[in-house]
Amino acid sequence: MTALINRIINYSGVDGPGIRTVLVFQGCNFNCRYCHWPDTLGTCNGCGICALGCPTGALRHEAPGKTPDFFEEYCTGCGSCINACRKDASPKIRRMSIKDILDRLKENGKRIRGITCSGGECMLQAEFMETLFPIVKEKGYSCLIDTNGSIDFEEQHNLLAVCDGVMLDIKAFDPQKHRELTGWGNETAVKNAVYLARRGKLAEVRTVVTTADYGARETVGAVTRLLRPYLAVQDIRYRLIPFRVYGVRREFRALGTPPQAVMEDLCREALDNGWRTVVVT
Ligand code: SF4
Ligand code: SF4
Repeated sequence: MTALINRIINYSGVDGPGIRTVLVFQGCNFNCRYCHWPDTLGTCNGCGICALGCPTGALRHEAPGKTPDFFEEYCTGCGSCINACRKDASPKIRRMSIKDILDRLKENGKRIRGITCSGGECMLQAEFMETLFPIVKEKGYSCLIDTNGSIDFEEQHNLLAVCDGVMLDIKAFDPQKHRELTGWGNETAVKNAVYLARRGKLAEVRTVVTTADYGARETVGAVTRLLRPYLAVQDIRYRLIPFRVYGVRREFRALGTPPQAVMEDLCREALDNGWRTVVVT
């Protein structure tokens, strides 16, 4: 069994508790305007355009329809290939087996507290995680999922049984605003929030805040009130993320970072609704 992995971040301090290795899965069903890893969204069609612009010969395109071969040792990380791709894909994606991932964890050593599966949308490859997690847990690591919430967790009993927690995006509470922002509705994400909280598996809710009107105030208010009954048994973290332009596609860079006062106001709203752990990062 293999998964399509865009990249692995060996050591991250912002993707759950402790230092974690992050698996960035390739492919997403959303198309968020503020996505800062747009090369994780799409599927390569093997056009070869990226290889033509690679200044170091790290990409070699052998035939139309085939993803270029990637020679990591020549890659300088210049980003030309990502910028050239019109499919929001990357020629540096790898098919990885469970053994490949275990080998990487072994290299990363004892500093790692666990893994976080992110993306892209890792839940599109849920079957792989269901097999991976028990093996990783046996080695003493915890396993977290970072998701856009579009896949129904009520149908993922086996995965939830081996998952230590879910970090769930609620990008906007208003369905129309959510659709404008992501291209999808939010009904499943909101349903998942309640279901995961009830199961004691909701580690974190995340909302990105921009200067555009995607109803951040309404979202934070509605989500914190909706989940308040579950805080008595579980400390759910609310992470408010100010929009940052880094990595975002050119056409969406005008969204803008909100002033600190806006973030503080949202923070206060969550605390007033009884949340104990609210972070702005
Ligand atoms: S990664 Fe993008 S540019 Fe490169 S071959 Fe695939 S679709 Fe074409
Ligand atoms: S990031 Fe690496 S593979 Fe991509 S164009 Fe630059 S050198 Fe080539």
